[in-house]
Amino acid sequence: MARIDTDYLIVGAGAAGLAFADALIAASDADVVMVDRRHGPGGHWNDAYPFVRLHQPSAFYGVNSRILGGNSIDRAGPNAGFYQRATAAEICDYYQRVLEEHLLTSGQVRFFGMSDWLDEGPAGCRLVSRLTGAVTTVRVRRRIVDARYLETSIPATHTPSFDVEPGARLIPVNDLVRLTGAASGYTVIGGGKTAMDACIWLLDSGVPPEVIRWIRPRDAWLLDRAFQQPLELVAWLIEGVSLYLEAAAQAEDVSDLFDRLEACGQLVRLDPAVEPTMYRCATVSQAELGSLRRIENVVRLGRVVHIAADRIVLEQGSIPTDRGQVHVDCSAAGLRLAPGRPAFHAGRITLQQIRTCQPAFNAALVGYVEATRHEDAEKNRLCPPNPYPDTALDWIPATCIAQRAQALWLADTDLSAWTEGARLNAARGIGDHLTDPRMTSALTRMFANAEPAVAKLETLQAQNQQAGRAARRPS
Ligand SMILES: Cc1cc2nc3c(=O)[nH]c(=O)nc-3n(C[C@H](O)[C@H](O)[C@H](O)COP(=O)(O)OP(=O)(O)OC[C@H]3O[C@@H](n4cnc5c(N)ncnc54)[C@H](O)[C@@H]3O)c2cc1C
Repeated sequence: MARIDTDYLIVGAGAAGLAFADALIAASDADVVMVDRRHGPGGHWNDAYPFVRLHQPSAFYGVNSRILGGNSIDRAGPNAGFYQRATAAEICDYYQRVLEEHLLTSGQVRFFGMSDWLDEGPAGCRLVSRLTGAVTTVRVRRRIVDARYLETSIPATHTPSFDVEPGARLIPVNDLVRLTGAASGYTVIGGGKTAMDACIWLLDSGVPPEVIRWIRPRDAWLLDRAFQQPLELVAWLIEGVSLYLEAAAQAEDVSDLFDRLEACGQLVRLDPAVEPTMYRCATVSQAELGSLRRIENVVRLGRVVHIAADRIVLEQGSIPTDRGQVHVDCSAAGLRLAPGRPAFHAGRITLQQIRTCQPAFNAALVGYVEATRHEDAEKNRLCPPNPYPDTALDWIPATCIAQRAQALWLADTDLSAWTEGARLNAARGIGDHLTDPRMTSALTRMFANAEPAVAKLETLQAQNQQAGRAARRPS
């Protein structure tokens, strides 16, 4: 049995593990071992559906030390006017280059692909090759970094939560491009961004909207891509932040908050007649929204329980189907929902969300803090866990925690300089746009509302928790 020593063992070489490793070695001489079950780096992107693109601009995705794409704005096509968004193939190629040309050549990082990490607690840990069964025992001098705590579940690799009878045709979204003949119809299963991508791809590929049926157990609040733009368009992003802070500061209650967020364009929904109950940071453009609204056959009867050859049983009813119908599985959960825990604890680091919906930035921040601070209490103060949102109401604590963390970073001269230099920070470069009236009015609105917004969100959150406790109390 081989034995190795290292400072850090990073479990998971997805976006989070790689962004952490990159930031850690940029700020220290630490020795690092990375392990992943998959053959190469990039995590779930290796199994993504072929027509997926990043939902956000490439300009602030990946790792800090290397640009993804060309930092340019698309001039034509469905993303015209916005920063480029990488395809899955581009993302996988990027991560392979990050590993080979940067991490491995640094001499500080070793990579074990096709290997399972077996956690054996204080006794140590082992890496087991999926190809040979060879076991490597790892002695970790500093920390084990759990970069799979929020591991992403995707249709290509998950097991659906419902049964499918022989005779019914269910495919993961990846297999849409492999169809060889026309279907009698397409039933898209899922309410998240993957289902939206599947619907848009079908429509763009010439499938008439009336041939698409969309099983949407929950409707989601969505983010408008126009407000997620960095670099030359960062004034749009800051304007968005200032608008949602103003909405929060002025909100009279939860319902008024969501009305205001929608009125100022910071949350959008598919169907104006249906109040969304989900919020998972899915991002769309107005053009995509218009396209998706062409699908009128939306089934809202809860989750699918069973698909037979002639009917689909859902939690709240059933609908007919047929053998010619292609059922498209988009029901995987995406980023795992897991409770917040201290990021730094004993010999562990658990990578989690801090700033909402920025997993790569958050992981890099934790890497930098680990390399530059000494006490765990201080590291945890700077990196508060912020559980990934799922329900609409989760917008409130998620925004609150992110705002408080932002204030801590700004107050810390060193961290403030690091965030300003970090390419993964979508909001960097504000100072370069102070002559832009859009930026100056956004900053005025933001500074006027930041503290009242956090105070109001804390009040609303306390009211929600109280109402939740009262509802659970036995009568
Ligand atoms: C379609 C889609 C589009 C998205 N678009 C965006 C976007 O635009 N912007 C954005 O910020 N986020 C986006 N996301 C969210 C995305 O999940 C994150 O950006 C990021 O890729 C998650 O990376 P991760 O490292 O946390 O998880 P993963 O990619 O799941 O990586 C975890 C890795 O851990 C490995 N692993 C787990 N357990 C073990 C073990 N015991 N031993 C060895 N290895 C193990 C797994 O094999 C896996 O490779 C998108 C997600 C999806 C599904």
